[in-house]
Amino acid sequence: MEHSLSPLMHNAALAKLGLDYVYLPFPIAPENLESAIAGFASMGVVGFSITIPHKQAILPLLSEISPIAQAIGAVNTVTRQGNQWIGTNTDVEGFIAPLQTTYHQDWSQKKAVILGNGGAARAVVAGCIQLGLAEIHVVGRNLQKLQAFSQSWQNSLYADKFQVHEWPELPNLIPQANLLVNTTPIGMYPHVEESPLSSQEISYLPSDAIAYDLIYIPKPTKFLHLAEKQGAIIIDGLEMLVQQGAAALKIWLQQETVPVTEMRQALQNHLGI
Ligand code: NAP
Repeated sequence: MEHSLSPLMHNAALAKLGLDYVYLPFPIAPENLESAIAGFASMGVVGFSITIPHKQAILPLLSEISPIAQAIGAVNTVTRQGNQWIGTNTDVEGFIAPLQTTYHQDWSQKKAVILGNGGAARAVVAGCIQLGLAEIHVVGRNLQKLQAFSQSWQNSLYADKFQVHEWPELPNLIPQANLLVNTTPIGMYPHVEESPLSSQEISYLPSDAIAYDLIYIPKPTKFLHLAEKQGAIIIDGLEMLVQQGAAALKIWLQQETVPVTEMRQALQNHLGI
């Protein structure tokens, strides 16, 4: 929270728009979440982002939850309508934005392999379903957590749209992957020499595949570096961060466009990339 980059990008956009709003970070202890939100309502806050560890805990405190946030089971954006708080999740929009804008293609014959089964993997699965991929394979290291991941979607439209696998199955999955997504934190700064897959494993990736890492520092991660050497198209996590923020700002300001360029630039300047 203290290291959140969101204030930088939102305040850059608000400055560009010349609006008298400010985006502020508030570290809130889990036991204070309910009273904090009541305080926000009293102060006239128009909306807020919500991050770990509150993404699930916020659900019972909201009057309405969008279908996508219900499916993912996590909220990252809350907006006020009258006296009510409405929750949604813009990570899916953030994830698919660079895939849609940069790589127009028919996804209906394509296969996705997703590394990791944590919170971000949920948005990635939902994004792959929205894009209409033919097969979605989620790979994790812990069978119990993989089964819990599967189970948690059982009552949603998203059940049966993906399969889960344990890590040793990767050698069979990588050669078929058109889209390979790293949602684990492996390789994130300062562990820049780490990669979720070895160079040997990545060498089985088809050369026309897209490798997508949700991590944005370093740029590129070792995983993306290895995939690029293999000939793959690479996408890092910065655009997802920018686009999920832009989607949230559109909701709060109730306007169709926001200054995405300034938001991206603010992050790039700060991160030196
Ligand atoms: P999370 O809920 O903690 O999930 C992490 C997943 O990675 C878990 O499935 C975990 O496995 C797996 N994992 C961790 N270490 C591993 C290892 N050594 N080997 C194999 N699997 C491992 O975290 P998250 O919220 O999903 O975030 C994941 C990453 O995505 C972070 O780097 C985060 O910064 C990034 N992210 C980026 C954006 C963006 O906008 N670009 C948005 C969200 C997240 P277990 O379940 O077995 O522990």
